[in-house]
Amino acid sequence: MTTDFLSHLNPSQRLAVEHYCGPMLVVAGAGSGKTRALTFRIANLIRQHQIDPEHILAVTFTNKAAREMRERIEHIFIQELALSKYGQRVELLGEYEQKSLRSQVYKKTTKKLWIGTFHSLFARLLRFDINKYQDERGRTWKRNFSIFDESDVQSLVKNIVTKQMNLDDKKFDPRKLRYTISNAKNQGITPDDFLKHEPGYRGRVIAEVYNEYQARLAANNALDFDDLIFVPVRLFQQNESILGYWHNQFHHILVDEYQDTNRIQYDLIRLLATNGETKKSEWSWQGRSLFVVGDADQSIYSFRLADFTILLDFQKDFGDGLPDEDTRTMIKLEENYRSRENILQAANQLIANNSQRIDKILKPTRGIGEQIYLYKADDEQLEARFIINQLQKLTKDNPEVNWGSFAILYRTNAQSRPFEDLLIHNNIPYNIVGGLKFYDRKEIKDAIAYLRVIANPEDTVSLLRVINTPRRGIGKTSITSLMDAAQQLGVPLWEIISDETSVNTIGGRAAKSIQKFVGMIENVKEQLETLTAAEILSQILDESNYVRELQKQGTDEADNRIENIYELYNAVQQFQEDNEETSLEAFLASASLASDLDNLDEAQQKVSLMTLHSAKGLEFPIVFLVGVEQGLLPHNRTLNDPLELEEERRLCYVGITRAQEQLFLTYTRQRRLWGSREPAVASQFLKELPEDLISSNVATAASYYRQSIRDKEKAIISASNTTDNNSNWSVGDRVLHHQFGAGEITHILGSGKKATLAVKFPSLGATKIIPKAAAMEKID
Ligand code: ATP
Ligand code: MG
Repeated sequence: MTTDFLSHLNPSQRLAVEHYCGPMLVVAGAGSGKTRALTFRIANLIRQHQIDPEHILAVTFTNKAAREMRERIEHIFIQELALSKYGQRVELLGEYEQKSLRSQVYKKTTKKLWIGTFHSLFARLLRFDINKYQDERGRTWKRNFSIFDESDVQSLVKNIVTKQMNLDDKKFDPRKLRYTISNAKNQGITPDDFLKHEPGYRGRVIAEVYNEYQARLAANNALDFDDLIFVPVRLFQQNESILGYWHNQFHHILVDEYQDTNRIQYDLIRLLATNGETKKSEWSWQGRSLFVVGDADQSIYSFRLADFTILLDFQKDFGDGLPDEDTRTMIKLEENYRSRENILQAANQLIANNSQRIDKILKPTRGIGEQIYLYKADDEQLEARFIINQLQKLTKDNPEVNWGSFAILYRTNAQSRPFEDLLIHNNIPYNIVGGLKFYDRKEIKDAIAYLRVIANPEDTVSLLRVINTPRRGIGKTSITSLMDAAQQLGVPLWEIISDETSVNTIGGRAAKSIQKFVGMIENVKEQLETLTAAEILSQILDESNYVRELQKQGTDEADNRIENIYELYNAVQQFQEDNEETSLEAFLASASLASDLDNLDEAQQKVSLMTLHSAKGLEFPIVFLVGVEQGLLPHNRTLNDPLELEEERRLCYVGITRAQEQLFLTYTRQRRLWGSREPAVASQFLKELPEDLISSNVATAASYYRQSIRDKEKAIISASNTTDNNSNWSVGDRVLHHQFGAGEITHILGSGKKATLAVKFPSLGATKIIPKAAAMEKID
């Protein structure tokens, strides 16, 4: 069995997978099996070295990638167990046996693994230890903290700027301040540090906004996304014994997409791997490892302060620093297993135009494939129309192609609309990854706010959201007086409203309704330990009258909201099934970190739509890279900055290298975008692609399925490559043509090397063929 699962690897991958202790960097281009090597290495640590899965920490870039990695590992162990227990592969077993094997492997192995994004992993860690953390002003948090999403924190900052501090929001744009705060946290900068860096007037004001913002988060017992990395770093720096505990927990640390880590994430990894010891000579790698994989050419998150020099410095920071030929801490992978040769060559040639890179070897292992198809549409509507036609044609012509085979990739979210319109119109199922924020919808935010209040009553932001939603007679004036009282006493709003005397004296006419509301929340809270998250959700939606109020409205919009709420209920149930974890807290943590609902219906075949940024690490048989225009890709903002332009080129490289079988590039003559109609110009990147690999002939499109015929044909040609097969044609011969498939020669015009043939193909009728130019073979 060992050999079985390692036999799917090439020698360099195998070296990476079998690496046991110490630092290791795997660098390689797109589709070279980096993620695969990392995944297999986890399985190998458990199988070969008997590492307890709970000692393994693996960081992925998205939740989806984490899920896939876990499933992959699970599959390896399920297969092994099936063979040892039943002597058969798992696919041949009955449903009951399969389920029971999955459950065993889950309990024994995959449940214990720490696999996830930086954010989800460290949110989980903070659930254990955040109560031991103190910020620079002595503020503290409890373990049932809420995680505020982007819109929560936007309104917090806005409120501080315009209401609390009465600042001019033209001079101090809340959105920009929010971004400044986020950037500060991503560099490990506290409000006091910020003041030290920028002691002028503006700096002082921003530092104060930042400080107030922190105070508000603490008062709500809440964190923002950036805190999920920032707080663990500060906590580890503050408290040696806690760092020691987690250092001892995570013997093996693995990071995928290492080129897109930023400084603070790096600090976190470094602290955990080295126990905070700064001297390299003091580090002990006995029984532990740090294994990172990445590709500097795919670094595309510099706007979130990702820094690929972190990857380039790995050898210096952790490795042996020896030259490439001698090093034992770096492995290069040089074969691409994902893309057809044409696609790979185009990608390689494009990225060679970047100056900021280290040249790599990336060899194709798959057949040459179709040409890349380039299409110029009159406008964005016709661009979408063209693609929908291709989708329909390709699925109709090819049994192995289904809606799930396609991805439409674009530079900005705004580009998705024309595609969505036509997909809906044509009844083609699709899924927008990352764009449509299910959890940002009003009704979903309301429902989640109820759940958050139940889990963490100090979360005043959520409490205010639901206290009078649906209307239950708790008016603005009552709420304001209650809030004032809470502020004066320096306690959370919940403490005031759950105190009967206060409510009776301050609550005025609303007192009764408030008590009823508090009673309802408390009633559910008491059952937190016994009810599942799904049960809590349905109980609170029922008791709060939320759904009933929507039903009363009877509008389409209200119906839609009700549907979404059922969808949320499905999401909770799915979460419980997937994770065998029913606590409300666990669900809330996963919901606040989820960006979309793609996990719900992965089994269904749908066209995927997403930005290039979201496509990192993924692969699809057929990719449409759309809007390849100056101003879109490369983006307008970047045209005057050579370094940013290089990042756009990397983004284009990421897009191209997602394709396995076939790639379409499209652009328009003119485009309506951001309101006005503008003439469009083809992207400069298109000129950097090898001309001979690109075709704009519609006949060559939509034909990738013929590849298998073509591969056979190549084999025939190479077997008989010494014979001159151009001169021996006769009428009646059956031939195999690389594009049109099998046919029969009906006429021969001319002779010898100049011969032209008329060939009848079942799909095309008779066609004139010049045998010299065509890859065509006689078949018997
Ligand atoms: P990216 O840079 O885009 O993240 P990657 O280097 O992580 O790519 P993977 O996603 O791990 O590459 O692998 C690309 C594809 O090649 C996957 O479909 C994977 O299953 C396949 N693959 C990887 N290694 C091998 C191998 N040795 N033999 C056959 N297929 C392989
Ligand atoms: Mg990968």
